[in-house]
Amino acid sequence: MITPLAFAFLPPGAFMVLFVLVFILAIYAQFRVSSAYRKNAEIPSRGQITGREAAQAVMSNAGITDVEIVETEGHLTDHYDPMHKRLVLSAENYHGTSLAALGVAAHEAGHAIQHKEGYAMLNFRMLLVPATQIVSGVLPFIILASWFLVRGFTGVILDVAIICYAVLSLFQLVTLPVEFDASRRAKVQLVNLGILDRDEMPGVNETLNAAALTYVAAFVSALLNLLYLLSRRD
Ligand SMILES: [Zn+2]
Repeated sequence: MITPLAFAFLPPGAFMVLFVLVFILAIYAQFRVSSAYRKNAEIPSRGQITGREAAQAVMSNAGITDVEIVETEGHLTDHYDPMHKRLVLSAENYHGTSLAALGVAAHEAGHAIQHKEGYAMLNFRMLLVPATQIVSGVLPFIILASWFLVRGFTGVILDVAIICYAVLSLFQLVTLPVEFDASRRAKVQLVNLGILDRDEMPGVNETLNAAALTYVAAFVSALLNLLYLLSRRD
């Protein structure tokens, strides 16, 4: 999630209200993810298939044989690593047979399918990763400089901050279709492959839709910071 850093400068008027609303949206999205995951991690699937087996089945069905599935530490640290062709699942989703575990595992397998198919938005997102990493590293220094050197966003500092948030906004925008598409593929495959029954899908939908909301909040937050900074330009 992108911290609304410009919030520290307490912008006046309408922006102030918008920053508060976006902040509430981000907190709400985080709360929804935690509660949806906690709830559906308690509901075992009837088929008793593990997250690892589900991810394997979804990828095999798509003809993917060169992606390794590995277990990692941490809570909700699941991701697909396109650089190393690795599907990384947290221990609870790797071994778990819950609706939440299968939803997350199938979602990550959805990214692997996107990668195999050369899904344009995933390629675009991968292209933006280096620039995003650079601006994420630069941004804290820009914020510090604006605090201690010029007491606010002006001149070159403002321009660099605008570039940073433009890159972050674009990255978060491109992330949206990538995430929505991976979840859509996951839902279809879980039913089509018989991993879950149709009446078990509401638990999966609840978990994946809550996760999607956090990406929306991250995009809105980055965009609002960008618009605020642009409004500061004379
Ligand atoms: Zn994802």
